[in-house]
Amino acid sequence: MDLDRALDLIKKSRAKIVGVQIPEGLKRMATAVAKEIEVKTDAEVIVSGDPCYGACDVDLDLCRAADLVIHIGHSEMLEGDQLHDKVVYVEARMRADVKEAVENAADLLSTRRVGVVTTVQHVHRMEEIVEVLETRGIEAVVRSGGDRTRYPGQVLGCNYEAARNMDVEEYLFVGTGQFHPLGVALATKKRVVAADPVTGNVSVVDALPMLKRRYGAIARAGDAERIAVLVSKKPGQKRMDLAKKMAALGEEHGKKMVLVYLDRVEPDVLVNLGVDAAVCTACPRIALDDQTKYPVPILTPPEFEVLMGERKGDYFLDEVE
Ligand code: SF4
Repeated sequence: MDLDRALDLIKKSRAKIVGVQIPEGLKRMATAVAKEIEVKTDAEVIVSGDPCYGACDVDLDLCRAADLVIHIGHSEMLEGDQLHDKVVYVEARMRADVKEAVENAADLLSTRRVGVVTTVQHVHRMEEIVEVLETRGIEAVVRSGGDRTRYPGQVLGCNYEAARNMDVEEYLFVGTGQFHPLGVALATKKRVVAADPVTGNVSVVDALPMLKRRYGAIARAGDAERIAVLVSKKPGQKRMDLAKKMAALGEEHGKKMVLVYLDRVEPDVLVNLGVDAAVCTACPRIALDDQTKYPVPILTPPEFEVLMGERKGDYFLDEVE
C-alpha cells in the first residue's frame, strides 16, 4: 500500500482531521496507518470502526466529521458524488507472484484465445499474466470495464463489464476466493478457469451449486406474502429507482411490499420486520454470498422478476452499473 500520495494531499490541503476507512481484512493495520499519518502530517486521525466492503462503501458520517478521508484497499469509485472530493483512495496490492498459478492454469485452458480478468489486488500483474500466456501460445484478451472500475481487466463482485466486453469462449480469472470467478461464469455463461496466485491452485469454475442454491431461494420465496425491498444508504450501492420498481412489481402481483432504507443489511433487521422474504437492491453479494446468515430468502432483483414470472431464460446475474 502506498500512502505517500495521501500524505501529500493531507499536507497540501492542510487537513486537520483525517478519517481512515479500511476493509475488514486489513483492519489490523489501522493503528499503524493512523500513527503514520499523525506523525507525518500532524493531523488528528479518526478510524472508521464500521465494516467496509468495497469502494462503494464510503463512510458518509466520517466524511462529514473529517476534512479528508483516506479510503484504503479499493480502487476509486463514485466520482461526482457530493462528498467524493473529500475521499482519497489508496489501493492495496498483493505481492503474490502470479507466474506459477498462470502456468498451471494454462494447462487447464481449452482454447487458444482467452479473456483475462482479475481484481484490483492483482491488476498490477496483468502484463506478466499476458506474457506467461503468450509464451504458452495463448492469446490473452484484456478489456476495460465501465465506470465502476479503473483498470483494464478489473472486475468487482458487482460488476463484470470487463469480462462481458469481449468476444471470447473462455476466461482466465487470476485472484483469490471463489466469488469473482463464479461471477464471471454467471455473467458470461462461458467456461472460466480460476488461478489463485497465493496458493498456486487452479480450477475450472462450477457454477451449478450456486445456481441450485439461487433457484432454491427463489422457490422458498414462492409463498412469501410480506416482502421487504432493501435499499442501501451507501452511495455506491443505493439503487432507489430499482427498489421502487421491484416494490411496484410485487404489489402488482398481490404481495405486501415494504421499502426499507438501511445502512447495513443484517439478519436482525429482517427478523424484527417480520417479513417472509426480501429483495436486496444493495450489494449483490449479500444475496449470493451470505444467504445462509439470513432467516428468510433474500433475492436479487432479477431473481425476484423470475419469481413474479416476469423474467424467463437463463439465470441473470445482478450487477451494479
Ligand atoms: S456493491 Fe458490493 S461487490 Fe460492489 S464494490 Fe460494493 S461491496 Fe464490492
